[in-house]
Amino acid sequence: MKRRSFFRIGLTTAVLGVFKPVKAARVFGEITGGLNESNAPIVISTWRHGLAANDNAWKVLEEHGPALDAVEHGVRTTESDMTNRSVGIGGRPDRTGHVTLDACIMDEKSNCGAVGCLEGIKHPISVARTIMENTPHVMLVGDGAKDFALDYGFKHVKSPIKAVKKEWKEWKKKNKKLFEKPVINTENHDTIGMLALDSNGNLSGACTTSGWGYKLPGRIGDSPIIGAGLFVDNEVGAACATGLGEAVIRIAGSHTVVELMRQGRTPQQACEEAVARIIDKHENVEGLQVGFLALDKKGNYGAYSVFNGFNFAVKSTGQSELIDAGFDRNW
Ligand code: ASP
Repeated sequence: MKRRSFFRIGLTTAVLGVFKPVKAARVFGEITGGLNESNAPIVISTWRHGLAANDNAWKVLEEHGPALDAVEHGVRTTESDMTNRSVGIGGRPDRTGHVTLDACIMDEKSNCGAVGCLEGIKHPISVARTIMENTPHVMLVGDGAKDFALDYGFKHVKSPIKAVKKEWKEWKKKNKKLFEKPVINTENHDTIGMLALDSNGNLSGACTTSGWGYKLPGRIGDSPIIGAGLFVDNEVGAACATGLGEAVIRIAGSHTVVELMRQGRTPQQACEEAVARIIDKHENVEGLQVGFLALDKKGNYGAYSVFNGFNFAVKSTGQSELIDAGFDRNW
């Protein structure tokens, strides 16, 4: 099952000659992720939906806007996409049919804001930012988060949307028990995590998700937890995670990746070491997909996952592409 893999580089980068094809293996000290030697703005984000999200983030970055605005603007794209079943109110519900959303945001001054289990609000990332900028708190959850959002002018929207409700009703017919252990699913883990470096050299990140499809009511994953789903340290770099949140929380995943970069690892090496740690901490990693994405202060990036299939989108001057991350093993 174990197999070494390679980062693929797109035609654009090969032509520009900015990025070198790099081997993604679990041998630390030998490899790097993409290199942005020009120190120019860059935005990276998880999964294919990151392409469209990066395009919108880029509109801010190319106008020399702040990374914080770029990441908020960027992930709102995915939150608005009603065909996306893992982010925003188009996402899958919990076992009781409630779509509960998790999100967090962090800026270059280590300010951060988060929401958990938020229902009926279209842009949880903007609620997270509003908490960050208007309260002394970092995280609000459930009804408190909802009331806060309504108070600050966010509109209530109906959820689940029709298509999601229909899917959930089908699922419900086969899954009657409320507190049965949810099955680890492989297809429902598609959070958008986004990291950006702006033209002033500042980093910010955002992370937003509807979480584990058909989760137990009240479950909050890694995505709104600062240090787990997202972490930014403007002196060093930023990281975000996707996949099985419980596993990410166990190793304080994104914080771990940033701390490894602080100790001298490249973003690629840091992601690989964090994945190795997850693997080491679990007796059985069957179905346990986790992917990390990292960006350092100079715009170097890296990504790695437990299993194959994780990809991420990169956008910088003259470049927009989807890259397959390296991985430890095949499904
Ligand atoms: N990390 C998210 C969670 O556990 C899921 C995902 O990446 O889609 O809630």
